Amino acid sequence: MKCAEFINLLHDRIDGALPEADIERMRTHADICPECGARERALSALTEDLRAMGGEVPVPAALGAAQSLHHLICEPFKILI
Ligand SMILES: [Zn+2]
Repeated sequence: MKCAEFINLLHDRIDGALPEADIERMRTHADICPECGARERALSALTEDLRAMGGEVPVPAALGAAQSLHHLICEPFKILI
């Protein structure tokens, strides 16, 4: 595997759309290529961070906050949107 292919597969892997066989080929390349090993670790860490941040703001709560804001802005003026 070449580095360019590794990077392409890395994106698919983050999307969760990569067959196990390809993941295995990536592991083999990451073991022999320090640059791609570092790429994999950096992107994995970033993905974990994004998941962690998403967990702090559950979608229903965010929607509730948006609705409260809507009431706060529109109710005093009887604006119908
Ligand atoms: Zn590489």
